[in-house]
Amino acid sequence: QAKADGGGCLRVFEPGMDEKLRTRRALTADLRQAVERQELTILFQPQVSTATRRIKGAEALLRWYHPTRGLIGPDTFIPLAEETGLIVPIGAWVLEEACQIARGWQGLNLAVNVSPIQVRQVGFVATVERALAHSGLPPERLELEITEAAMLANTADTLAVLSRLRSLGVRLAMDDFGTGYSSLATLQRFRFDKIKVDRSFIRHVENDPKAIALLRAVIAMGSALDVITNAEGVEDEGQLSMLRAEGCEEAQGFLFGRPMSAAEFQVQAGLQDVQAA
Ligand code: C2E
Ligand code: MG
Ligand code: MG
Ligand code: MG
Repeated sequence: QAKADGGGCLRVFEPGMDEKLRTRRALTADLRQAVERQELTILFQPQVSTATRRIKGAEALLRWYHPTRGLIGPDTFIPLAEETGLIVPIGAWVLEEACQIARGWQGLNLAVNVSPIQVRQVGFVATVERALAHSGLPPERLELEITEAAMLANTADTLAVLSRLRSLGVRLAMDDFGTGYSSLATLQRFRFDKIKVDRSFIRHVENDPKAIALLRAVIAMGSALDVITNAEGVEDEGQLSMLRAEGCEEAQGFLFGRPMSAAEFQVQAGLQDVQAA
């Protein structure tokens, strides 16, 4: 065993490394069973109109309640799931589950994060179609959030997949805009419906002229292309009024609500009797 994974060598020079590897392996093994054991939960974070503060919908954010390690956030386990391919069944589960829940939301939208690995997987469009069919959620109410990493590889295939998704009626949002290589060309080529400006830009928007200039440019670009802009990570009123003044349509952040359970979201959004809807 030690020979197979090189653990014996690593232990001599880098004691921390071996431990890390062991933890990763243990976590991966646990993650494999997390869905069946019902350890995964989806939280929902409100997305609001900056003009009215009314809730337009929510973004589904995955959490893992590990039986012994406690709460594990997606930044820790999504990369593991991507490396092992587990993101495919997990992602399919998120789509099924979140669409079922959002079916009762009386017109509000649901945004679901999608990994580049899922987009490149052969059955992805069918998975989305199935989740819509099973839940009865109208396609126009589902938005898929994709980071630009999905665009970098395999461009022709990705383009085909995205256009098939669009013809289902599903909308597309480019997540974490500004953190990678996204460009005007990418946005136009893949015909996104929404840009989500990364929260690193929003954080400094009140006092950093460069952050403001960048935000303005993104909003102008969005409106030229008929793309809605969403500001991520809005935490205070000052940021909100700045965003409103600059013409950013949509916002999301702790100011309006942290990621919360479906039941809590139902209350905050003023929805009635989700089960019966
Ligand atoms: P993301 O899609 O960019 O989600 C936004 C993240 O910012 C969330 O972190 C959210 O909790 C956090 N956030 C929202 N508002 C605020 C704020 O006002 N201040 C601060 N400081 N943070 C805020 P979270 O839930 O830990 O998710 C991290 C990332 O994990 C997500 O980034 C997304 O890329 C990924 N992720 C989450 N759920 C899924 C999923 O079901 N599938 C896939 N493929 N990825 C997921
Ligand atoms: Mg997202
Ligand atoms: Mg984001
Ligand atoms: Mg992110």
